[in-house]
Amino acid sequence: MKIKIDYSLCQDPTNCLACLRVCPLGVFLRAPVENPGDPGKRPMGYKIVPLYDKICNGCGECVKVCPKGAIKISK
Ligand code: SF4
Ligand code: SF4
Repeated sequence: MKIKIDYSLCQDPTNCLACLRVCPLGVFLRAPVENPGDPGKRPMGYKIVPLYDKICNGCGECVKVCPKGAIKISK
């Protein structure tokens, strides 16, 4: 399956992570957004990445729980 996250709707997943918690297959990852200007390598923030979208079974649970409507799934 293809999974698209609208990052204009999900700007900081840290206080949500509902998709990550509900997914039975562990498709999502909370990943740091790099800050090239910071020598200490502290991230600018975080984003949700559908890293393992190839194993998604299309159950739709993540779409249902997302409070922002930020997740779209297609074949
Ligand atoms: S549709 Fe189901 S399996 Fe696929 S990413 Fe969402 S919760 Fe996980
Ligand atoms: S459920 Fe939606 S708003 Fe919450 S972290 Fe996932 S994509 Fe972002």
